[in-house]
Amino acid sequence: MDLCNIDTIRAVLGRHGFRFSKSLGQNFLTEAWVPARIAESCGVDETSCALEVGPGMGCLTEQLSKRAGQVCSIELDRALFPVLEETLADCHNVEIVQGDVLKCDLAGICREKFGGKPVYACANLPYYITTPAITAMLESKAFSAITVMVQKEVAQRICACAGSSDYSAFSIYIAYYAQAEILFDVPRDCFVPQPKVDSAVVRLIPRSEPPVQVSNEKLLFTLIKAAFGQRRKTLANALGGVLGASLGKAGIVQLITDCGFDARIRGEKLSLEDFAVLTQLADQRMQ
Ligand code: SAM
Repeated sequence: MDLCNIDTIRAVLGRHGFRFSKSLGQNFLTEAWVPARIAESCGVDETSCALEVGPGMGCLTEQLSKRAGQVCSIELDRALFPVLEETLADCHNVEIVQGDVLKCDLAGICREKFGGKPVYACANLPYYITTPAITAMLESKAFSAITVMVQKEVAQRICACAGSSDYSAFSIYIAYYAQAEILFDVPRDCFVPQPKVDSAVVRLIPRSEPPVQVSNEKLLFTLIKAAFGQRRKTLANALGGVLGASLGKAGIVQLITDCGFDARIRGEKLSLEDFAVLTQLADQRMQ
């Protein structure tokens, strides 16, 4: 059965009385090269395992099943279970688990299902949970690599460098935890129903150590969030809310210039390394 063929999709879903849910981000792939290429790029092989989020009708699951030792797919929508029972009947190394990826203990599931083998996360993510799902996957520290399809603009944000228009707090968060790369684009006409945006597949390789060392990780992310929360403002003004009480306005400007930055610099010009320098000095001065 070609799980990306539009007639097959309509026939199978029709048989089970399934209706697409917009609120669950259900856009299924209709081009077989896409799930094949995602599965091929994710790094899994017969000695390792795949954890998939949102199998839908199972087109990516089937491709993972062909390459991985074992596959576990987390699906929120119970209405897809009878569909998946039919479409994945021949995939004996696949287990479907009902749940919300944002509420699951991902590390616990990997330990329980795969017993310590390397695990590769893979997904055509529903758009509405892209950021929290990637965050949960990275923070679980359970994966050798995370390969996900996301909205193209989000992929560009994930991989953006300091100073570019796509650069955001999430770009820096990702750079702290992983090496990120856009693998390929997927146009909107590869899905049913067709979304209003194009997609891209990104691969994140989690780092064993962050590329910068700071004594106060919480402060690092507080400063990044503040700097981007008001990105039209200068860094000095944007940091007023978090550092003003302890350093005062003049103290913040002094901090910024002592780090070697222009007093009127905007936060979006700072790299992760620059934020680490800023955090170290701010932490010392706040003691
Ligand atoms: N993998 C299929 C494909 O590529 O054709 C379907 C991808 S579709 C974009 C997203 C899938 O994620 C749907 O099956 C949807 O029901 C499921 N989903 C939505 N929210 C979820 C959540 N919080 N946890 C797990 N699965 C979720």
